[in-house]
Amino acid sequence: MGMLLLGACAPFVYDPDAFRVSVVLSFLSGFGVTLGYHRLLTHRGFKVPKLIEYFFAYCGAHALQRDPIVWVRTHKLHHKHADTQMDPNSPTQGVWLSYLGWFLYNDYVATKVVKLIFIIVKVIQIYE
Ligand SMILES: [Zn+2]
Repeated sequence: MGMLLLGACAPFVYDPDAFRVSVVLSFLSGFGVTLGYHRLLTHRGFKVPKLIEYFFAYCGAHALQRDPIVWVRTHKLHHKHADTQMDPNSPTQGVWLSYLGWFLYNDYVATKVVKLIFIIVKVIQIYE
């Protein structure tokens, strides 16, 4: 989500090096959610040393899909109550809620997004 907001400012502050960094960070955050939050922390699909586990969780935290504890709890509820009213990201309640809404509708993300917007505005003011 953060990457999307930063991307909206790209035409005004485009820099090839910054673009490369954003691609790497986007990859790492996606890697952190899919491999770290999902496969490792939720399903315990494989074992790694604790330091690597923390690194995956750290990468996942950059995806702004909340902290690992909340993400794992939400995903376990999703599997336990799949496609019912108790599923926190059920596709039966619409595409928006199932993919993005479940983690966007909370104070934590709202606070992060507001902080990110202030940072973007400051960066734009610096380049002007
Ligand atoms: Zn799963």
